Amino acid sequence: MRISRGAATGVAAPAEWITGRAWVERIAAPEAAAGTEIDSVRFAPGARTVWHRHPLGQTLVVTAGAGRVQRRGGPVEDIRVGESVHIEPGEWHWHGASPTSAMTHLAIEPIAQDGAGSEAGAAVTDREYRREDETEVVAPVSRSILLDQTLPALYRTHRVQIRRITIAPSQAAGLHVHNGPVFGSIEEGSCVYQIDGEPAVVLGAGDVFHEPEGVGIARFDAQDEGVTFLGYFLLDTGQEPAIEFPDR
Ligand code: MN
Repeated sequence: MRISRGAATGVAAPAEWITGRAWVERIAAPEAAAGTEIDSVRFAPGARTVWHRHPLGQTLVVTAGAGRVQRRGGPVEDIRVGESVHIEPGEWHWHGASPTSAMTHLAIEPIAQDGAGSEAGAAVTDREYRREDETEVVAPVSRSILLDQTLPALYRTHRVQIRRITIAPSQAAGLHVHNGPVFGSIEEGSCVYQIDGEPAVVLGAGDVFHEPEGVGIARFDAQDEGVTFLGYFLLDTGQEPAIEFPDR
């Protein structure tokens, strides 16, 4: 028996197959020359595959979030948790997240005995990805709330320091504690973020986070492409940002 604890440990999907950010966790590999490959694939908001086809088709089962799928010549369809999509052998199609929500699906693909692989085509353009009704109206300004965080108590801020921080590929920050609230947003790459005692999440470009004051941050681990983020340090008069690495 092998228990898999979820997509937080996935590897970045191959760039030639994806527009945006996606992570793949192998659930089951085909046996020998034939069999079925099962992957759990997480797409960041707006991310999608390129146009592609599978020699023996594919079944998708949405396990989190909301996404989109389209077969060549058909409309862009919404897909949600619990829904599945059956793609015919050789049918050109793409699948991915919705513009505003991440999406995770299982991808179940029979592997051909003759070794024929999936074929990638052109990228799905923004025009193809957006539905016609969404291309009509282009707002002059768009705003979305990424985080609305109440602090545990009224907090005195006299200064805010913003740092751009880069962590090299596969480097882990290690358990650490900050002396004030830290807010951040990922610019490039991705990391696994975990507040001690809470579930781990994957953060990618555009995602935001809050490291609470005085609380153990168990993981801030760059994935295989490294991670660059902006960190906003809220400081009181005369206070400097400080970080501690407690022993377990
Ligand atoms: Mn596919």
